[in-house]
Amino acid sequence: MEHRNADPLAERARREQANLESRPESPAAPLDAATEERSAADLLADALNAPSAADSAVMVLLVDDQTIVAEAVRRALMDQPRLDFHYCANAEDALRVAQATRPTVILQDLVMPGVDGLTLVRQYRENEATRDIPIIVLSTKEEPRIKSAAFAAGANDYLVKLPDTIELIARIRYHSRSYLNLLQRDEAYRALRMSQQKLLETNLELQRLTNSDGLTGLSNRRCLDDYMNAEWKRAAREQSQLGLLMIDVDNFKSYNDTYGHVAGDDVLKLVARAIESSLNRPADLAARFGGEEFAVVLPSTSTGGLRLLGEKIRMAVEALAVPHTGSASDRLTISVGGVMQVPQPGEDMKQLIEAADLALYRAKRDGRNRVEIGS
Ligand code: GH3
Ligand code: MG
Ligand code: MG
Repeated sequence: MEHRNADPLAERARREQANLESRPESPAAPLDAATEERSAADLLADALNAPSAADSAVMVLLVDDQTIVAEAVRRALMDQPRLDFHYCANAEDALRVAQATRPTVILQDLVMPGVDGLTLVRQYRENEATRDIPIIVLSTKEEPRIKSAAFAAGANDYLVKLPDTIELIARIRYHSRSYLNLLQRDEAYRALRMSQQKLLETNLELQRLTNSDGLTGLSNRRCLDDYMNAEWKRAAREQSQLGLLMIDVDNFKSYNDTYGHVAGDDVLKLVARAIESSLNRPADLAARFGGEEFAVVLPSTSTGGLRLLGEKIRMAVEALAVPHTGSASDRLTISVGGVMQVPQPGEDMKQLIEAADLALYRAKRDGRNRVEIGS
């Protein structure tokens, strides 16, 4: 690439362009790592508030083997404000120079030694960095067939050498402006997509937080109520079995008194994990009912299944072997009360909870660390 701008004015324009390229807020500049870290909302605001493409600098790359043409074009563009001119005489270098200089418009000679101009046009179009850069083909002939071939290869415009200065500038500015508008719009879309993605993630996280218990990560009471309501209605409709286990930590008050509330909280987390890992079906839902009580909703589960699962959870907690001097077995245990119902017309979901609670009460009364299944 050669810089044919020997005069001070053109040199200043070139320096201005170099400054512009190094500024991240330039709409044409690629996003760097620092920009990536900014919030999507900031990026969107930047994209929407970016200066209009009409205000942006024009960068022309002329690819032509004839230096006399280059000199003529350079002179034609010399006095233009915010317009920088680059010249490449060698067809073999054209793509590399275009990638490096990122012009806003390429003036491409059709007949060049080595590589044919139309081949170059196709190469620009196939390359990621130059794909959308407007190309004005320069030809010596006003020939419809050649024009047609140029447009088919991907050219945006066609001029016969040497074009009138006013027309050349008008076309260069027009194509530059539409290219910069395209970049600006792509950037705005990109920022919009990012902020939509962020919003989606935030909503999902919000939904998770709304439904989960802060200490144990299990479903919370609100989620349990909603789920039980829906499953109760489904079971009533399908006349299917709906099971519920109520789980209560044994002698937990004394655990807190002996080991402290922080240790008590840790135990609740351990019990939650033990319950969770005992469940197999996707429809099973474990929740913190409140305090040191947990509930497990088990759709389409028989009394036998309920007893099996209750026992599995009880043993899982016992196997944790958490020392508890206030317990008969010297380790932390739970009591489980379970009930299965096929909802009948006029029956209320509360009956299911009350029946499970009653079974739990019996498990406590009969000595704790046991599973009681009621009806
Ligand atoms: P039982 O075997 O009859 O269930 O006896 P218990 O001591 O477990 O029953 P009780 O209902 O008298 O006590 C429950 C205790 O659970 C009272 C409270 O200090 C404790 N507790 C409730 N919620 C939490 C919690 O979030 N963290 C901790 N650390 N303790 C809790
Ligand atoms: Mg309790
Ligand atoms: Mg208890």
